[in-house]
Amino acid sequence: MEKWINILGLQDWHIEVYNDCSPKKLFDKDAQGENYYNFTYKHAKIRIISKKDRERDILPMEYEHILVHELLHCKFASLDDSGNALQDKLVHQLVEDFAEILTERCKYYEDS
Ligand SMILES: [Zn+2]
Repeated sequence: MEKWINILGLQDWHIEVYNDCSPKKLFDKDAQGENYYNFTYKHAKIRIISKKDRERDILPMEYEHILVHELLHCKFASLDDSGNALQDKLVHQLVEDFAEILTERCKYYEDS
């Protein structure tokens, strides 16, 4: 996790990550991860479901991808919950696009 904290410049956040969570513990039972954060205090709690439960999902995601996605919610926190459903949806899509780009690009450079 430290690698991604540094890459994303989130060193001033206090972030707790809970792995191997049961999907039942997540607010959205269909999600593979979630992030409860307080932007003012820069405090976040990230929950990621277990590998076994992720593999049961129709579109299973890798742990690192989910972690980066959830960390990006901290990065984009000032744009979240705007009260405009379309904007919130677009911000969430940006979070996911960047998670995909960053994790794939990182794999490419680590493998080459
Ligand atoms: Zn999300």
